[in-house]
Amino acid sequence: MKRVYNFSAGPSILPESVLRRAADEMLDYQGSGQSVMEMSHRSKVYEGIINSAESLLREVMGIPDNYKVLFLQGGASSQFAMVPMNLMTGSGKADYVLTGQWATKAYKEGARYGEAHVVASSKDKTFSYIPKLDPATFTPDADYFHICLNNTIYGTRYTTLPDTGKVPLVADVSSCILSEPIDVSKFGVLYAGAQKNMAPAGLTVVIIREDLIGHAMDITPTMFNYQTHADNGSMFNTPPCYTIYMAKLVLEWLKNDIGGLEEMKKINEKKAGLLYSFLDQSKLFKGTVVPEDRSLMNVPFVTGNEELDAKFVKEAAAADFVNLKGHRSVGGMRASIYNAMPMEGVEKLVAFMEQFEKENR
Ligand SMILES: *Cc1c(COP(=O)(O)O)cnc(C)c1O
Repeated sequence: MKRVYNFSAGPSILPESVLRRAADEMLDYQGSGQSVMEMSHRSKVYEGIINSAESLLREVMGIPDNYKVLFLQGGASSQFAMVPMNLMTGSGKADYVLTGQWATKAYKEGARYGEAHVVASSKDKTFSYIPKLDPATFTPDADYFHICLNNTIYGTRYTTLPDTGKVPLVADVSSCILSEPIDVSKFGVLYAGAQKNMAPAGLTVVIIREDLIGHAMDITPTMFNYQTHADNGSMFNTPPCYTIYMAKLVLEWLKNDIGGLEEMKKINEKKAGLLYSFLDQSKLFKGTVVPEDRSLMNVPFVTGNEELDAKFVKEAAAADFVNLKGHRSVGGMRASIYNAMPMEGVEKLVAFMEQFEKENR
C-alpha cells in the first residue's frame, strides 16, 4: 500500500489512524453486525454515535451550553443563504467583510435577502491581506456581521476579531475549525463544511447561540430553518450518518492522540512556521500573503514564473506530494496543511522544494 502526502484544500487528508479505525469497523460496528453506512439513523446504536460526536465537539471546542450544535447538509455554501434567511429579520441589514471568494459569495447571497453592506474588502491586492476594520464604519443596527475567518484560497486569516458590540458575529470557519482554540462565546454563529479539517464531505456543522434561533423569514424552507434542526437534534430528516461517524473518530483522535486544541495549535504553528520560514529565505519561491495575516492551514506560494510553477507541481506530484496546484483563480501553488498533515509531510515537502530550487536557479 502507498499513501501520498495530500496537500488538497478540500476534501482533504484525514488522520491515517482514523481511516484504519473506520476500516476495522466497516463491516461490523462494535458488535452490531452492520456497517455504520447501513444503520437506521433512528437506531440506538446510531443515536450513540451522533450523541458522542456532538459531545466530543462541545468538549474539544469548549462550546457554551447556550449554543446549539447542528449537523446539516448542503455545505458551507448553503449557509450563505441560511444565515440571512434566519437572522436578517430585525433591521434587515447585515455587514460583510470581503476577504476572498467565499466571503464574496456569502455577501452576494446575503444581498438577495436584505440590505447587505460591504464594510471592507481586500480585493485591490488579490485578497492577500485582511483589511483593517474601523468599528465607526459598521452598521450599528445590523442583524449580524459576517466574516470568513480563514480564507482557504488566498491563505489569510484573522488574528484579531472585529469588535461588533451587540451585533452578532457570524463566521465561516470551514478551513480553520479545530485547528486552534476559538472563543465560541464571541460569535453568534459559526459554520463549517466538514471536508477541510473535520471529516469527509457531506456534513456541515453549525454552532449557533440559542437566542438567534426562531426568527426566520416566512419564506424560509423548512429544511433551511435552524429551528427545524435545533428542535429535532439534527434528526428532522436523515442526517449524513457516516460522515458524522467519521467526524466522531476525528474528534476522538484530536482529544486522545493529539491532546486537544491547544496542542493542535502548537503542532500547526510548527508546521506552518517551517514552511513560511523556508519561503522567507528562498530565492526561488515566495509566499503571497503579508506576514501578519498568514494562515496556519493554507499556504500559497509562487516562483514568479508560470512555467516553473507548472514544472514544480508536476515534479512534486511525481514525488508523491499531490494537490499542490494553486486555486484556478490565483495560480501558483498552495499547500494546505490541515490538522491531519503530519509534521513529516511538511518537512519532506520543504526538502523537496530546496532540491527543486537548487536544480532550477
Ligand atoms: C470550501 C469552503 C467553502 C465551501 O464549502 P462547501 O461545503 O463546498 O459549500 C466555503 N467557505 C470556505 C471558507 C471554504 O473553505
